[in-house]
Amino acid sequence: MVLTTRQANSASNTANLKKYLDLDQKGSIIAEYVWIDGAGGCRSKCKTINKPITSVDDLPEWNFDGSSTGQAPGDNSDVYLRPVAYYPDPFRLGDNVLVMCETWMSDATPNKFNYRHDSAVLMDANASHEFWFGLEQEYTLLDPSGWPLGWPTNGYPAPQGPYYCGVGAGKVFGRDIVDAHYKACLYASIQISGTNAEVMPGQWEYQIGPCVGISQGDQLWMSRFILHRVAEEFGVKVTFAPKPVPGDWNGAGLHTNVSTKEMREEGGIKAIEAAMEKLSTRHAEHMEVYGEDNQLRMTGAHETASYDKFSWGVANRGASVRVNRAVAEEGKGYFEDRRPASNADPYQITGIIVQTLCGNVEG
Ligand code: ADP
Ligand code: MN
Ligand code: MN
Repeated sequence: MVLTTRQANSASNTANLKKYLDLDQKGSIIAEYVWIDGAGGCRSKCKTINKPITSVDDLPEWNFDGSSTGQAPGDNSDVYLRPVAYYPDPFRLGDNVLVMCETWMSDATPNKFNYRHDSAVLMDANASHEFWFGLEQEYTLLDPSGWPLGWPTNGYPAPQGPYYCGVGAGKVFGRDIVDAHYKACLYASIQISGTNAEVMPGQWEYQIGPCVGISQGDQLWMSRFILHRVAEEFGVKVTFAPKPVPGDWNGAGLHTNVSTKEMREEGGIKAIEAAMEKLSTRHAEHMEVYGEDNQLRMTGAHETASYDKFSWGVANRGASVRVNRAVAEEGKGYFEDRRPASNADPYQITGIIVQTLCGNVEG
């Protein structure tokens, strides 16, 4: 979709909106129900609830037309929304909330695109290992024409080099959006742990975590929703495409940092090495759920490994999995799976990692 300049300018007017945000809601709250659609995008709709929310059980099950989101056929289109987590709403403020939902069918089976369900079963069964995940979400901002933000119309900026963690006009594009998103995530009590400008101009990263088990996927999905929503106010598009511009421009990933209780304890490097052994035997299965178009990104160049072959190494950014030098020296900590693409589903990534390290669970 290409936005015209007129559409972009009419995207929203937050100064006008401010006046209405201050209005008394007379005891009712607005709950924005967020879910994942058939294309791996976010959808949402909102509902009035007559009292403040103090538990996820205060949020009723709801539904939507799955035939309009690529999630259900027209003749059986009802898809049900089951709230699983809620966060303070950084857009509407007050007692209003953002609600992360799972999608379910009328026969009480999970919707085809509900990847959270199976992942949560694995996390529950392996709760004793205390899995922590920290995900590094890379993304690219696009101007209304669909070209990276700040790039010359129909042209390219100077080669990569000055942009990573860059400062100054001509080096960074879209910092207002990045800062607004950071603050909005903190307001929402999402465990955002940092942000930085990336190697390709117009490309950015933020990190969510370390989060325990299934809450990683919940928080990462909500942070994506917030990013789209913030960028919408600026008339800017967000893409999670892993190789938004072909050629000598870095792709975008979703590096996944992982640890268990055993890895964090004294001598935990043994558990990390055992994990490498297990990961090496299921490389192809992991790549299947590590994002679409990932082969365009994983060329072996631009700080990526080969798409087809598993490798790991200390301090090696060209390996599938990197063990940080400090971790190797201390003999305990975590590992970084560098394979997932920026558009991968965090529920699927964290789920398959638990499955590979701990075995399957019936559920
Ligand atoms: P880099 O870019 O060098 O890979 P980042 O700082 O961008 O590193 O991301 C590393 C992430 O690792 C942090 O944001 C944090 O969430 C996560 N992390 C740190 N310690 C652990 C741990 N013990 N287990 C899981 N994740 C961790
Ligand atoms: Mn990083
Ligand atoms: Mn990284």
